[in-house]
Amino acid sequence: MNKDRVLEILKSNDLQAQSKFGQNFLCNDNITNRIVDVSDIRPDSRVLEIGPGIGALTEAILSRSNGDMQYTAVEIDRGLAEFLENDSFIGLHAFIECADFTKMKREDYVGLYDFDFVVSNIPYYVMTPIIKKLLIECNSAEKMTFMVEQDAIDRIIAKPKTKQYGPLAVLCEVYGTVNKEFSVSPDCFYPMPHTMSAVITLTKKIFLNEDENFEITLEFARFVEACFSMRRKTLYNCLGSYFKIVSPNMPILSAIDKLGLSSKVRAEDLSAQNFIELYRLLLL
Ligand code: SAM
Repeated sequence: MNKDRVLEILKSNDLQAQSKFGQNFLCNDNITNRIVDVSDIRPDSRVLEIGPGIGALTEAILSRSNGDMQYTAVEIDRGLAEFLENDSFIGLHAFIECADFTKMKREDYVGLYDFDFVVSNIPYYVMTPIIKKLLIECNSAEKMTFMVEQDAIDRIIAKPKTKQYGPLAVLCEVYGTVNKEFSVSPDCFYPMPHTMSAVITLTKKIFLNEDENFEITLEFARFVEACFSMRRKTLYNCLGSYFKIVSPNMPILSAIDKLGLSSKVRAEDLSAQNFIELYRLLLL
């Protein structure tokens, strides 16, 4: 999809790029194809796309189908969703849901089978909630491929003991291996965003030893958020207030001690594996 085609589709369907929905449409086929290449999608995969827009990625994804690919997209903008539903490349096995993804229940977009792959040129204004929701609700996917703002990458790949390290980086690390694939310049979009973008992939970690595999749940994500709730306070303090009402006798200090950590440790000092172990000790 090049810029002329984007403009023509918008004009002939009486549509406009809406900044409130973070609409920057890809208009560079080379980039679109590279995104689908790094996603590893197979001809018979079950694929979820968040925010298909006017279908730049959709078209490239579905062109790899052998007829058995199951494709689901969630698009917030009714005009775009209606345009896509009627478009010629949408076949029998493609479903377009018109909804705000951040507000959807899992059962409203996941059908009989879980997704193998997730792809999204993420609307930047809701990047964090979308990635977190996908890591919780679609964590059996083999791989997730996202276009994000270049500046946001630091928060996704942040390491312990850094300012950027927080719940998003922990959840990404627990799910899989994060790779920055390539940068994308603003002129590959219409309208042009103000910043550089980048494509990242998250490949699910799968351990041969079943016990080492860990599925992110909403409860785990909330636990990690609680650990970071007061960044200047110790982990013990943060968890103390988290459990105060429901489980005041939770053996927090002894769990921290079992991990070989100091009672003064802060959430930012913990590795992703430490969070899993602490959660297992306290809540499983
Ligand atoms: N995938 C298209 C492309 O690459 O050209 C469009 C990407 S554009 C950056 C983001 C898309 O996400 C827009 O189509 C926008 O309407 C949609 N979107 C924004 N917020 C959304 C939400 N909360 N749920 C679902 N879709 C959303």
